Amino acid sequence: MNILLVYPEMPTTYMTMEFALEFTGKKAVYPPLGLLTVAAMLPGGWNKRVVDTNVKPLTDEDIVWADYVFLSAMNVQVKSVREIIARCNALGAKIVAGGPLFTHEHETFPTVDHFVLNEAEITLPLFLNDLDLGRPKPLYATKEFADVRETPIPQWDLIDLNDYVFAIMQYSRGCPYMCEFCDVTALFGRKMRTKPPEQVTAELEALGDLNRFDLVLFADDNLIGNARDLKQNLLPALIDWRGKYKYPVNFATQLTITLADDPELMRLLRQAGFGSIFCGIESPEEETLTNIKKRQNTKRDLMANITRLHEEGFTLSAGFIVGFDEDTPEKHQRMMDFIQDSGIVFTMVNLLKAPPGTALYTKMREAGRLIEPFNFEENESNIIPMMDPELLHEGYARVIKMTYGPAQMYHRARIFLDSFAKRPRLKIGTQPKVQWRHIRATFLVLWKIGLTGTQRKEFWKFIGWSLRHHLRDLRSAMMFTILTYHFEKMYELYIANNQKRGRKFGAAFNTHGQGYGLISAKPATVEAPAMTDVAA
Ligand code: SF4
Repeated sequence: MNILLVYPEMPTTYMTMEFALEFTGKKAVYPPLGLLTVAAMLPGGWNKRVVDTNVKPLTDEDIVWADYVFLSAMNVQVKSVREIIARCNALGAKIVAGGPLFTHEHETFPTVDHFVLNEAEITLPLFLNDLDLGRPKPLYATKEFADVRETPIPQWDLIDLNDYVFAIMQYSRGCPYMCEFCDVTALFGRKMRTKPPEQVTAELEALGDLNRFDLVLFADDNLIGNARDLKQNLLPALIDWRGKYKYPVNFATQLTITLADDPELMRLLRQAGFGSIFCGIESPEEETLTNIKKRQNTKRDLMANITRLHEEGFTLSAGFIVGFDEDTPEKHQRMMDFIQDSGIVFTMVNLLKAPPGTALYTKMREAGRLIEPFNFEENESNIIPMMDPELLHEGYARVIKMTYGPAQMYHRARIFLDSFAKRPRLKIGTQPKVQWRHIRATFLVLWKIGLTGTQRKEFWKFIGWSLRHHLRDLRSAMMFTILTYHFEKMYELYIANNQKRGRKFGAAFNTHGQGYGLISAKPATVEAPAMTDVAA
């Protein structure tokens, strides 16, 4: 049996770091963890081929070679998914599809032959069994959650790991929280399922030479969802493993701001090598956080928590959202001020979306406020806002302009480095060494940003300041210059997309004063309902 496993193209997003990739010499940010885990669950005697379309093109020869084409995708990959499905249909290839996109919306892909939905550890064996008997069904789904202790190590030998900046793995699934706009609990449940330490370290070692990666990303939705297991089992084992094997690689992950409440957990995470963390802050407004059920972010001093995490030695990235029902222009201004004061350099601001499968999706559908079909693009929404849509998009344009401007990003980088310098000196095992790829990246930064970039003035001011005040953290400072470049390019893309859509707002960073926040001339695609209609 010939099996072709295809990973669809990721669109350009803040997270895919497309513009930062220019400095790395790599082809993509991280490998397709889910698809390679599925590959490891297929019978050993089958011929398997993987095409990650973010790394190399999918050819007709690949498709014709396959008895089955396996597709795994997240919501953001929908455009590429539809193109791949059309090509497979044209060439008569049979398609087996799984992953979050299909789990939520399989009925919108009528030409897929078999859906293997939810967690593949449960549904894939059912499909394989029926295939063996010669009668595979069109759909396999389950309400059960898999035992991740049974999950095999991804079949890394099917790809070239040297193509990727980061390595990737997973320790847990699920999240105990119920944020209204998030589909994690619908997909993976509220009860945390974790792997034992031996399984995690075996997965790390299966990745081979870890020196070739800048980071290993723990692709958990909330790493600290079961803090007790983490403190008692995984983190002590990882600390031990780092010491024993002298692996210098550092780890990155996603977690909640509640980390700032737990000094022991912060210390253990740092000692185990976790330095880069992502938190959903969403909004500085208590009322908004309560309404969207982001309760773990309420009744706390968010700014003090952020500073604490920086001072403990974490580099925090964060997500913010514009477009909540309570939004006003004043709240947009407060969000901008909060972001600027926070010192969080990598800040993603998005428009509120209601992904299928979430409580927010149901709420919006019941209120008649959904725009179909769902547009997964960043900077777009599928919700009819309470605020005038033009005013909302104008406010959003202002927030991202004031967040992604080079001067604003370097301002936050200074706040961060001042806090980060206060971190305790912990014994963290061997630290990553400077390698040839880092020297190459430094030269590229100097050329592309320092000598020929539009933001070179801010760049040299920031680098000069870092050399004077934070020589020890110059590597972090250089990384921030790459992030600033990436976000500048993302903002240019945002303006270009606005122009394509006929919106006038958005202006280049170098036009200050009145240059941004112009009202769009584009008529709203959907009429906003009267407030009384919504309330009903
Ligand atoms: S804490 Fe994060 S993963 Fe958990 S429900 Fe909220 S947004 Fe989703």
